[in-house]
Amino acid sequence: MRAAQQPDWPDPEALAEAVAGLAAAPGLVLPQEIDSLRERLAAVARGAAVLLQGGDCAETFDGVSQDQVSAKFRTINQMAAVIGEGAALPVVTIGRMAGQYAKPRSSAHETRDGITLPSYRGDLVNGVGFTPESRTPEPRRLGRAYQTSATTLNLLRAFSAHHRTEFWTSHEALVLEYECALTRVIPQGIYNLSAHTVWVGERTRQLDGAHVDYAAHIRNPVAVKVGPSTTPDDLIALIERLDPDREPGRLTFVSRMGAGAVREVLPDLVAKVTAQGSPAIWICDPMHGNTFSAQDGFKTRHLNDIVDEVRGFFEVHRTLGTHAGGVHIELTGEHVTECLGGVYEVTPSHLPTRYETTCDPRLNRAQSLDLARELAGLYAT
Ligand code: PEP
Ligand code: MN
Repeated sequence: MRAAQQPDWPDPEALAEAVAGLAAAPGLVLPQEIDSLRERLAAVARGAAVLLQGGDCAETFDGVSQDQVSAKFRTINQMAAVIGEGAALPVVTIGRMAGQYAKPRSSAHETRDGITLPSYRGDLVNGVGFTPESRTPEPRRLGRAYQTSATTLNLLRAFSAHHRTEFWTSHEALVLEYECALTRVIPQGIYNLSAHTVWVGERTRQLDGAHVDYAAHIRNPVAVKVGPSTTPDDLIALIERLDPDREPGRLTFVSRMGAGAVREVLPDLVAKVTAQGSPAIWICDPMHGNTFSAQDGFKTRHLNDIVDEVRGFFEVHRTLGTHAGGVHIELTGEHVTECLGGVYEVTPSHLPTRYETTCDPRLNRAQSLDLARELAGLYAT
């Protein structure tokens, strides 16, 4: 079965050693926790709760510090408080954290000044530095991803115990050696113990592909990113593969259409999925359909487009009488200048001052709270 977007590992023996190490290691989360998240998500599916998922596009090994994890955790929880008040519903908070280390790329190679090297595929695979050494996939990074996830999760567990709140972890299930090595067969079923929930990305959601097949086998709640080229038949086939029992909380569709397409493309998809009797949750990723290059080549997004896509998503659900289940956001707790706009406006000339992402541009803390206020208003009306 074809697995798209896999690294070209240069050293099969080192890879086998890394995989064996993970297979012998303890899981990062418990199967019982995964089952509890499925129950929380069942409430979202029923319209009795809202889902807020957020974090970096790509976490980095060097980026893990107590301050940085705490700032992200606090930002997500503050957003949840604002949204929950507007919606008068509980908010289920999931970090793109403690494992979001692998990236799909639109191009396998990158050329700079006439030199071509493999693209950066996330710290789990290779380094962001533009040198042959750094860009060569390195299997020992699998073990480092596990350890750095464990460090992050330890902080998240401490913070959530202190705030007496629940916080769940997620990442894109992309590099299948990593995901499979941390998947365990126990009497209750097959569980990916690297995170509470994982998603299949827009570039790897092929119905006959290895990622959907993998997601079909695990008991974790799973999500699939769906872009503007998605057809209702694609979704119905995904439902048959991933949620044949129509179990509330099991399956989430993450709509990432772009502000210009959401109002045209989404209604038919939601209507046909609903007509199938599927309890799939719908959430909106207003980031990935709204990316553009600003002057000097900075990849950015404007908060106005992000808000516009979220509004379009709500309009569609309101018209159909379905539940706008929540949002999936790329954000950080720091005052970075990666996305434009916001009440404390980031302008194009600000972009170079704190542009720190190794992949896609993230909302900073102030922009994240701007978006949360917008969401509170949408839920309240
Ligand atoms: C991402 O979430 O960073 C991503 C690559 O998204 P998508 O699969 O929707 O393009
Ligand atoms: Mn991204």
